[in-house]
Amino acid sequence: MSYDENNIFAKILRGEIPCDKLHDDQYALAFRDIAPKAPTHILVIPKGAYKDIVDFSANATAEEIDGFFKAVAKIAQEHHLVEAGFRSIANTGLNGGQEVPHFHIHLLGGKKLGAMIGS
Ligand code: AMP
Repeated sequence: MSYDENNIFAKILRGEIPCDKLHDDQYALAFRDIAPKAPTHILVIPKGAYKDIVDFSANATAEEIDGFFKAVAKIAQEHHLVEAGFRSIANTGLNGGQEVPHFHIHLLGGKKLGAMIGS
């Protein structure tokens, strides 16, 4: 399946839908999840059109991958997630429960998160 230009994160990137923006640079945009699952729940997305982590890893340039993950780390630092620990998740495809087909990393923290996978 090819990249869906009408997915909600593509619309956010194009400025067609607002977001609670936390970070914006050449490689990554970060904003608060609209339905937070933890006290801190941030989504980080690459600027390029990649549907999931496999597409991103296979088709993004080394510069895009480096810039994206540097931004992920910077955002985790800036939001005080690193000291106490946090969880990063990249849901992928049907079994992974991915709802939005634009690659994104969830950063979750601000409390002890418990078991890795719920029922
Ligand atoms: P996933 O299930 O990994 O694809 O996660 C998609 C996430 O996007 C969910 O946690 C949603 O709550 C979140 N989400 C959907 N629409 C928006 C939006 N307009 N702004 C911020 N977060 C959103």
